[in-house]
Amino acid sequence: MKKNDSASARSWSVDWTNTLFLLGYHLLLFALLPVYLVQQSPSASLIWWTVGLAAACLLAITMGYHRLYAHKTFTTHPVVESILVFFGTLATEGSIFSWSHDHRIHHKHVDTELDPYSAPDGFWHSHMLWMLKKRPPINPRVIHDLVKRPALQFHHDHYAYFMVAANALGVGFLWAVTGDLFGAFVIGTLLRMFVVHHCTWFINSLAHMWGAQPYSTEHTAVNNFILSFLTFGEGYHNYHHTFAGDYRNGVRWYQFDPPKYFIWALSKVGLATNLKTVNKITIKRNLVAADRHLMVERLQSLNIHFDREAWIARIEEAAASLTENLNGLKTASDRYQKLKAQKDEEVVILRARIKEVKATVSHEMAEWKKMCHLILESSESKLALSIT
Ligand SMILES: [Zn+2]
Ligand SMILES: [Zn+2]
Repeated sequence: MKKNDSASARSWSVDWTNTLFLLGYHLLLFALLPVYLVQQSPSASLIWWTVGLAAACLLAITMGYHRLYAHKTFTTHPVVESILVFFGTLATEGSIFSWSHDHRIHHKHVDTELDPYSAPDGFWHSHMLWMLKKRPPINPRVIHDLVKRPALQFHHDHYAYFMVAANALGVGFLWAVTGDLFGAFVIGTLLRMFVVHHCTWFINSLAHMWGAQPYSTEHTAVNNFILSFLTFGEGYHNYHHTFAGDYRNGVRWYQFDPPKYFIWALSKVGLATNLKTVNKITIKRNLVAADRHLMVERLQSLNIHFDREAWIARIEEAAASLTENLNGLKTASDRYQKLKAQKDEEVVILRARIKEVKATVSHEMAEWKKMCHLILESSESKLALSIT
């Protein structure tokens, strides 16, 4: 993989298939949409069916291509998988092999020259220009688990036919239910494809540029609740790049993340299994590490006279104590989970220990949040008054 990717990073040539297709359908849409709208108004039925198809395509990409295939964060029933593959194909974003291959490389080499949609190369590169460049051939080792599945290999080998057939079926279906063939093509296919594409592409562009970094500052991925609506739940991208093995992107229940709700609901009726989540203590440990980094960075950037070293030492000390206590809590909780059925003396001691450490962590966390609030959220003048 490295050999091919290094070669691509040094020089590149145009991928004419992608370029002609992407430019071609954008031009066709911009040319035909005004003609259609001058002739007639789209019916309510056409609009709602198009919204439904767009939502199904976005769900198939986020839940299927991304969380099921690229990251293996859950397993599902073959019927659900077939539905996801159909709408993923209708979304016209390439085969499962090529999508997962590029996405796994994106995670492994994020923000470097080996990252196919590296955000530091600029908005337009990560949004869509990267697709106009010829990619190295798929390295089977990157998707070793997927290449073992003949059905997915068949999907990859005949992808162009499947993609055309799925979209032709989409046009036919919309024509049948609305009686509007021109609308089925312009609104239900070209416009739907445009919306689904750009919403997905925002994950690679805006979700690496516009937002906060609560879980990790080691990559450019950000969390942004506005983007979670635009990207159908993938706006908590800072969390995702930090814990890519978690089936959730918006880890809190109220964070808009349709694939998370669907996967969870399917698990309740036995149609999704092996849902992978990251332990709450591990998540908290990352939050503390990211906060520590941001606070030190802000204090170092201040152009005022104050005891910088003492403040940084205070942050480091609080972070170290909190991390140590979170580690202790994790060790005790893991041990308790293993032994709790035994109901012996060790279990009683462990329970008391967990209670004690939880109280300490809760107290330290409250103090930590106050410090974060002061250093990260105060205006420069207010912060200067508090620390000098
Ligand atoms: Zn990313
Ligand atoms: Zn991912």
